[in-house]
Amino acid sequence: MSPELPVLADTRGRALRDLRISVTDRCNFRCVYCMPREVFGADHAFLDRKEVLSLEEIARLAGLFVDRGVRKIRLTGGEPLVRRGLETLVEKLAAIPGLEDLSLTTNGSLLTPARARALRAAGLRRITVSLDALDDVVFKRINDVNFPVSGVLRAIDAAAEADLAPVKVNMVVKGGGNEDQIVPMARQFRGTGHIVRYIEYMDVGNSNGWELADVVPAGEIVRRIDETFPLEPVGANYPGEVAKRWRYRDGAGEIGVISSVSQPFCGGCTRARLSAEGRLYTCLFATSGHDLRAVLRSGADDDEIRARLARIWGRRDDRYSELRTAETRVTGPRALEGARGAQTAARIEMSYIGG
Ligand code: SAM
Ligand code: SF4
Ligand code: SF4
Repeated sequence: MSPELPVLADTRGRALRDLRISVTDRCNFRCVYCMPREVFGADHAFLDRKEVLSLEEIARLAGLFVDRGVRKIRLTGGEPLVRRGLETLVEKLAAIPGLEDLSLTTNGSLLTPARARALRAAGLRRITVSLDALDDVVFKRINDVNFPVSGVLRAIDAAAEADLAPVKVNMVVKGGGNEDQIVPMARQFRGTGHIVRYIEYMDVGNSNGWELADVVPAGEIVRRIDETFPLEPVGANYPGEVAKRWRYRDGAGEIGVISSVSQPFCGGCTRARLSAEGRLYTCLFATSGHDLRAVLRSGADDDEIRARLARIWGRRDDRYSELRTAETRVTGPRALEGARGAQTAARIEMSYIGG
């Protein structure tokens, strides 16, 4: 770790604290809201191997980000478990002095008990497994590769048994798609120690045909669960926590709700995102990134790269969700009205940047 560099702040006074690293743009699922088959078909041009950062390049950049203030790293994708050498990368990242939290988000399809144990042994501490439904018909309609719910439930068990607990379970709620699964998901994971995190469906990328009408607002998600399993709010774990926490009044655990559309949290957004090819994005909704791979491969030394990170972060002004929501009105218990989402701009895809 480099000695005592000042904390970076962007133009809105937000520090650089979190980094999401996408380790691949490939995935073995074709979730309809993320990599719809019509767009990500057999002829889709994924990144070439030499375009993707090597494990060493990722680890070097991660260390420099930590020097510049990052304390939490989450590995994502595409599907991070399709990346060869993932455990080696985890080992390298876990060894970075000053990094306080290292986690991973996965669809669970490749998370066998042996892999969960290997990731834990390499230094991973926490894992999030995505699961959008408990009903097989609904889930298979979403993942579009006929993957069964039981496979993801086994992955969640494998993670817990490997001491990657508490496991967080991400459910993207899409109106008319899987909203009838909100309460069954709560029922399934209450009392297990796992934490379901309900995520409002976001207008990321250009290919999922997002419409505001498909968003079930966080307030409505909480209301539906509360009707069956009474809830009460819990304070944040730390300032700037993205998920709002609720706990079951009967002591059966807690849930999180991520209201990126109805109640955005740009004001506390301390997150940077690195794509698999080494582009740095300062917002999930950015249309262009900063090419750090070119900087790395030009032979830049650590000081130059740290200075580059400082310049990029120092100019950051993003607050896309706040601006979108300023055009949006909550018009009823389950309805939002207004913004259309910037479907016209060439924005990056969720599968490219990893959420
Ligand atoms: N493949 C891994 C997985 O699905 O967990 C990691 C990458 S995936 C892009 C990361 C998270 O983003 C997943 O939990 C996924 O459900 C979520 N996601 C994808 N598209 C989304 C959208 N349009 N709105 C909200 N969340 C989305
Ligand atoms: Fe793959 Fe994850 Fe996107 Fe689904 S959400 S297509 S699993 S990257
Ligand atoms: Fe952060 Fe951009 Fe999301 Fe706002 S819209 S919370 S700035 S990533």
